[in-house]
Amino acid sequence: MVVGAGVSGLECARALARAGHDVLVIDKARGVGGRCATRRIEGQPVDHGLAFLHGSDPGFLAALDAVAADGAGTPLEGWPAAVQGSGSPCQPDAFAPGERRVAFAEGVSAFPKHLARELRVRLQTRVTALGLAGLRLALELDDGGRIDAETVVLALPLEQARELLATLPAGIADLDGVRALLSMLGTLPCLTVMAGYPPEIGAAVPFDLCYPAGSRALQLVAHDSAKRAAPAQCVMVYQARPAWSRERLEAEPSQWAPELLEAAAGLCGTWTAQPLWHQTHRWRFARVDRGSELAGPVVVQFPGGARLALAGESFAPGGGVEAAFLSGRRLAARLHEEFA
Ligand SMILES: Cc1cc2nc3c(=O)[nH]c(=O)nc-3n(C[C@H](O)[C@H](O)[C@H](O)COP(=O)(O)OP(=O)(O)OC[C@H]3O[C@@H](n4cnc5c(N)ncnc54)[C@H](O)[C@@H]3O)c2cc1C
Repeated sequence: MVVGAGVSGLECARALARAGHDVLVIDKARGVGGRCATRRIEGQPVDHGLAFLHGSDPGFLAALDAVAADGAGTPLEGWPAAVQGSGSPCQPDAFAPGERRVAFAEGVSAFPKHLARELRVRLQTRVTALGLAGLRLALELDDGGRIDAETVVLALPLEQARELLATLPAGIADLDGVRALLSMLGTLPCLTVMAGYPPEIGAAVPFDLCYPAGSRALQLVAHDSAKRAAPAQCVMVYQARPAWSRERLEAEPSQWAPELLEAAAGLCGTWTAQPLWHQTHRWRFARVDRGSELAGPVVVQFPGGARLALAGESFAPGGGVEAAFLSGRRLAARLHEEFA
């Protein structure tokens, strides 16, 4: 049983299924992908989580290649090509030598959709609590249902995994240790605005991505429609810095979205503040607080044999989408080895 259909959970489930295990993936969202997210706005895909995928691990790169091979997405190799600004990228490694970058014309969610292709996935189902049921773990669901499983993988942002761990009883030594360890780690928030403009604006945007150096508000500006074939509109995505996001995290989007659009005006031109439409997303747990991630996935063995395992971007060095993928794959290998 895997909770979380983000890249880590899907890759873990896929590797376990390929090794012959019967796996069910559960996610609270309407679609797969988690933070590797694409929204459809006025018929056009918009990547409102990570803007592009990047990595250097051969297994991860092979999985990216397979997206095109099975017809799930059209890769835009080397995107972003035009990068401006001397601000720091969310993932500095993204531009390191040897790192490959790729986006998809259909949106970055083409990748998780490809990973999920042969899996049993139950969507729109939130796990609300964990419990012990004899020799197994019990997952309580928001629809009132319950699923028991011998092995449960939590492939969630750290804080959401911690919330579920807190529903288990105290006094189990391994579990208490893991809870204490995870209480020291964290992820960073990111307030995001997506905005649409007349298509001719797009021709005047001189970059694919911009990392502004001098802005207190903006971490990244993505020219999202530059990834689309013949886009009907120019779409920009504005991602706020972690500290700026944290200060406004509980505020209504109507309070912070105009501020973010104004901040972009100083960078790109006054047109940014007058979009045809805009939407917002509050990523409470956007990405790993770099330096706080663990070296590998974690497995808690319960007396009697049940296993609770944790994967996700915080469970592999460096964080980010490649780390999420690798943590899922490594966890599956470890669980399979222990089954055998
Ligand atoms: C704005 C933004 C910018 C980013 N930029 C970059 C970048 O430049 N480079 C990079 O490498 N990475 C970047 N990332 C991070 C990258 O997207 C993540 O590292 C990666 O997608 C995490 O995958 P995951 O599987 O660990 O978690 P997630 O994708 O978060 O998957 C977790 C899943 O669990 C589900 N879930 C949560 N709680 C429950 C529950 N109780 N019951 C059922 N389901 C539940 C969620 O719906 C979600 O689908 C960025 C992320 C954001 C948001």
